[in-house]
Amino acid sequence: MKIAILSRNSRLYSTRRLVEACKEQGHEVQVLDTLKCYMELSSEEPAVWYKGEKLEGFDAVIPRIGASITTYGLAVIRQFEMMGTYSLTESVALGRSRDKLRALQLLSRKKIGMPVTSFAHEVHNTKELIKLVGGAPLVVKLLAGTQGRGVVLAETAKAAESVIDAFRELKADFLVQEFIKEAGGSDVRCLVIGRKVVAAMQRNAASGEFRSNLHRGGTAELTKLTPAERATAVKAAQIMGLNVAGVDILRSSRGPMVMEVNSSPGLEGIENASRKNVAGAIVKFVEENAAPHKNKTRGK
Ligand code: ADP
Ligand code: GLU
Repeated sequence: MKIAILSRNSRLYSTRRLVEACKEQGHEVQVLDTLKCYMELSSEEPAVWYKGEKLEGFDAVIPRIGASITTYGLAVIRQFEMMGTYSLTESVALGRSRDKLRALQLLSRKKIGMPVTSFAHEVHNTKELIKLVGGAPLVVKLLAGTQGRGVVLAETAKAAESVIDAFRELKADFLVQEFIKEAGGSDVRCLVIGRKVVAAMQRNAASGEFRSNLHRGGTAELTKLTPAERATAVKAAQIMGLNVAGVDILRSSRGPMVMEVNSSPGLEGIENASRKNVAGAIVKFVEENAAPHKNKTRGK
């Protein structure tokens, strides 16, 4: 097969591993810088151009779209979908997962366990939002944040009010969430491919920190998932429509709670912690599933 990897940087661990896996499995592979793809729209055939050449003959694209270029990345994927090229991550699925509010709404509609969450645009009464999630301690999250930045634990009602008021003052979009204390500063990243969790790791926060992100000094270790955790992770990925997803789960006393479903999950941490060839499994999935005009959503 001829496979394109959409990635801004071919030196990134995940991109390198995917290139390796494609080659190992006998495929032709090219890394395309997402922002350098340009598109031709007319009533004739849609096309994607790259460095003066019209892209032709690709059987599949593997999008690795960073959060900061979501909008343009979505347009590039949509264009490939319009051309009938199989995209491992469909534009609609990526769009769902990148819009945190939409993602949580979709998950809640399908009764996936999640921390009680409230959000609002204009709140006259901060106390009301706090009350909705059961009071302090609670977590306030900036919607624009990634890698644990903009995630604040407010231990008291007073602290919660101050944080919320500050975010409102900055006109930043945020959500307020019940704090899952019993998770003890750990969460579980489940790497889902198709209908299976192929690898998982538990991330533990550094001491004095409640956020377990590796970027915040957290450490990863191997973990054994319960059947309920597996089922929840797979279901969450399916609700988003993602063939590959990194599902973050908190282990709560009420069962697994999904915090987030990532559509371009990083491979370095999970491959190291689990010792699994996740990149190989991704390429294998593409191999078994890619076909022209196979994408379900095609930008709709
Ligand atoms: P980001 O997407 O920026 O990583 P997250 O929402 O995943 O932000 O939060 C970062 C970390 O903070 C999580 O990995 C988890 O360890 C912790 N955390 C987030 N939300 C909660 C919560 N409601 N209860 C307990 N811990 C939480
Ligand atoms: N690479 C990020 C992670 O694994 C996720 C990016 C995304 O899909 O939002 O945490």
